[in-house]
This record gives sequence, C-alpha cells and structure tokens, in this order.
Amino acid sequence: MKASAFAYARATSVGNALELLAAHGGKAKVLSGGQSLMPAMNLRLISPELIIDIGEIGELRGIARRGEMLSIGALTRHVDLLKSPEIAVHSPLLTKAVAHVAHPAIRNRGTIGGNLAHADPASELPACMLALDATIVVRSQSGERRISAKDFFKGIYETALAADELLVAVELPGAPKNASCFFHEFARRHGDYAIAGLAAQATVKDGIFTDLRMVFFAVGDRPVWPNAVGKLVNAAITPALMVDISAALREELDPPTDQQASSTMRRHLAKVLMTRCVSTLLGRPDLDARAA
Ligand code: FAD
Repeated sequence: MKASAFAYARATSVGNALELLAAHGGKAKVLSGGQSLMPAMNLRLISPELIIDIGEIGELRGIARRGEMLSIGALTRHVDLLKSPEIAVHSPLLTKAVAHVAHPAIRNRGTIGGNLAHADPASELPACMLALDATIVVRSQSGERRISAKDFFKGIYETALAADELLVAVELPGAPKNASCFFHEFARRHGDYAIAGLAAQATVKDGIFTDLRMVFFAVGDRPVWPNAVGKLVNAAITPALMVDISAALREELDPPTDQQASSTMRRHLAKVLMTRCVSTLLGRPDLDARAA
C-alpha cells in the first residue's frame, strides 16, 4: 500500500518546527528517521495531512557531557548510541540495549527521539530510560518541559507529548560509581521486537541490593517497573524470597497475548528474566539454578 497524500515541510530550525507544530497541531506528524512513521503511513494506520521533517536540524543531533549528566539530542541515531564511547562509559546499559534494536539498516536511520516518541511497549529504549532515571526534554512555543521517564510513557504508542510539542533531548544522570547493569530480551530472531525483555541498573553492597531499577518491556502497555521488585532491595536474597517475589510478579504483571506469545508465556519469561537478573547482578548462580 501507499501512504495517503500529504503535504511536506522541511523545518529549518527548532523554532521553525515549533511554529509548524503550533499551526498544524494534531494534523501534522514529525519525521525523524522515518523507520516507524513511514511504515505506519504506508499501511494507512495514520494519515497525517502534513509531515514536518526535522532531519536537517543540526542542534538536535549529538551527545554532550554536562557535568555528571549526559545530554543526547533527539536526532541522535541508534548507531551513534551504539558506537558512542561516552555512552559506553556513562550508561553501559544503553550500549547493551541498543544492539538489540532492529538491524543495522534501521539503526542507521532511526533516532532516540523518534523511538521514545513512538513509545512501542516492546521497544528496548523506553525501558532503559526508566532504569537510567532519564529526563525527557520537550519543547513547544510556550516553553520547555522536563518529564521524568516514569511519567512520559502513557500506553501503547502513547506519551505525555502534546500535539504541539517536539521531543528535543534526553538527559541521563550519572550512574553511581559502583553501579552495574543487566539487559536481556527474548525475541524470535536477533533484531526483532522483544517477546519479553528486562533492563536494569543496580548498586550492590556486601551481596545486598542497595538500589535496583528493574524495568520490563513487552509485558504491558508501557515499560513496567513492578512493585514486587522493591522486596529485593536491602534484603538478604534467599531462594524462599525469590519464590515469593516470583509469585508477586506473576500477580502484578498483566501481559498481552498476541501472535508472538501468550500472556502465560510472557509471565513465565518475566520470571526467568528477573531470576537471571538477580543472579547475574549478585554473582549468585545458585539462585538461577534453583529457578530452572
Ligand atoms: P520516526 O519513524 O520518524 O517517528 C516515529 C514517531 O515519533 C512518529 O509518530 C513521529 O511523528 C514521532 N516523532 C519522531 N521524532 C519526534 C520528535 N523529535 N518529537 C516528537 N515526535 C517525534 N525499534 C525498537 O525499539 N526495537 C526493535 O527491535 C525494532 N525493530 C524494528 C524492525 C523494523 C523492521 C523496523 C522498520 C523498525 C524497528 N524498530 C525497532 C523501530 C525503530 O527503532 C525506529 O527507528 C524507531 O522506533 C523510531 O525512530 P525514527 O527516528 O525512525 O522515528
């Protein structure tokens, strides 16, 4: 199929993009890498009247260190994240995760801003944003808003972005010095969207989690940080506790059934991911073996 007819405008600056968004609001769509927008238009899932191409706005591109914080421009491509030495040092979770986003051809065009604005619940990056305590920076003609990642994702393909707002950057705070991370996903083939996945960042002292940000993806309508995970923090992790938490996780998650997997299978995979994550981050292979 082909997209419905649409008008096209190439924004020359952020100010110009915001003017266009203010004038056309809900009838316009921003074009970044086009890797999700164009397929959706070609399938006529959406038919915007105007496409606002922001691809030439240089100020939206790049990775900059500001003190302890890393600022990533919305147009920074997946491949740039993957190859960035700053991200590898500052937020290694993101480097691990982005290797699972699609394939090289898509990573060469797709952007972090487009990925987060698209808000696919099976996507790796939204979950990383919660695990890394990111702030999403959005702008409209009325000014700038800084939205915590945990408040940004509202549902399937739904975010806190208003129709006249542009996602301009993502800010990642510095991880604690002794932080470690875990990333794993189950997918039919490497590069496919996940059937179930987990992104986590933790600090561990004397075999105990002092902090644990454990966020699942593809098991709900947005990234999910279950309450059950809280029981792992400041607690001696025993096999009995893991059984309790697995049961609480099963109750708390409400994963979808689709062509890829049933809800029951996703619940099971989430338990496996949680167990592997705890076992890996604590260096406790005994916990994983007991769960098998
Ligand atoms: P676009 O397609 O240009 O835009 C996506 C949406 O975001 C549109 O609604 C657009 O209007 C809006 N938007 C874009 N930029 C902004 C902005 N700055 N401010 C406000 N709104 C904006 N993704 C994964 O995470 N994991 C995968 O495994 C994966 N596999 C894929 C496999 C295939 C075959 C394909 C085609 C895509 C896959 N993707 C996957 C999606 C890919 O990562 C996209 O690049 C990403 O989701 C969207 O980024 P984009 O820059 O292409 O955005």
